[in-house]
Amino acid sequence: MREEVTLHGIVLSSSLQSEYDRRMVALTKERGRITVFATGVRRGTNPLQSKTQMFVMGSFTLIPGRDSYRLVNIDVDEYFHQLTMDIDAYCYASYFCEVMGFMTHEGDRAADYLNLLYVSLKALEKGQMPAKLIRCVYEIKLMDVFGQGIQSFHCPVCGKAEVSNVFDAASGGLLCDGCRGRAKHPLHLSDDAVYTIQYINGAPLGKMYNFNVSDPVLAEIQLVSKQFMDMYVDRKFKSVEIIDSLP
Ligand SMILES: [Zn+2]
Repeated sequence: MREEVTLHGIVLSSSLQSEYDRRMVALTKERGRITVFATGVRRGTNPLQSKTQMFVMGSFTLIPGRDSYRLVNIDVDEYFHQLTMDIDAYCYASYFCEVMGFMTHEGDRAADYLNLLYVSLKALEKGQMPAKLIRCVYEIKLMDVFGQGIQSFHCPVCGKAEVSNVFDAASGGLLCDGCRGRAKHPLHLSDDAVYTIQYINGAPLGKMYNFNVSDPVLAEIQLVSKQFMDMYVDRKFKSVEIIDSLP
């Protein structure tokens, strides 16, 4: 028999596999995105039933198989129960998990990815910042963590350590005064929007979700984030249609 391993992570999705079994996809710090089969967990009063839900974070004891794992136990750190009680928060959290699942692979060293997802789910759960803004912060930081971030301190065209208020997704960020004329689809941002993007890129993961912006600045940041995601993430997410339809 194979030896058990313990991995730390968050359940990105959990679906019924058969009457009593679940299939989960989890992002783990040690081995990236993995597939886990949880057999018999829906039988009677199996305590694993409530632990094999989406968003659950903890230590997973698993038996490795050829291309998936079999669940033995979960030692839960966080259930993120609040996210399942509020439909808007649930939709945003589902989107965060879907994007993360798309961006990650088995074998990734995923400590930063996991930490980003954790602090973002926490921010949604706390509800102190508007979910629309949390989404923008998540998307902008996600791109940065995956090495495709918006260039907001150096001009992405010439590398000069100076930027203007002109954003161009195709160029990769904020352009300097010398290069701004080359932008194919320039967005002229307010000073506050530029500062907000720089703040998100510069802030450590634990300090990103502690500010607010005016509605006009939020609208600018939403546009920047959308254009950037559309340009560099080649995927239409199912859950994004739902959150885009929320008021
Ligand atoms: Zn330049």
